[in-house]
Amino acid sequence: MHECCPSCGLKFEREQGYFLGAMYISYALALMVIILLAAALWFTLRWPLQKTVTWAVVLFLPLAPSLTLLARVLWIYLDRAVDPESPPSM
Ligand SMILES: [Zn+2]
Repeated sequence: MHECCPSCGLKFEREQGYFLGAMYISYALALMVIILLAAALWFTLRWPLQKTVTWAVVLFLPLAPSLTLLARVLWIYLDRAVDPESPPSM
């Protein structure tokens, strides 16, 4: 991930530990994806619950890096909406 936006120069990590809030979004997204994968597996294959959930988690793993980036983008949007950056004072 870039430190600043190559297009507009927005600094992504406003402060130390800025993306801690993104972890909550990431967790919620991961849970939803795993539930959707488990539901799809269960409806198509009718495996036992433990096997279904295990495979849903295994199938989710390659998506984790993309989901982390998506969560960070959503966090930046949420943070900017709640706390827009004031122009720098001289
Ligand atoms: Zn930008």
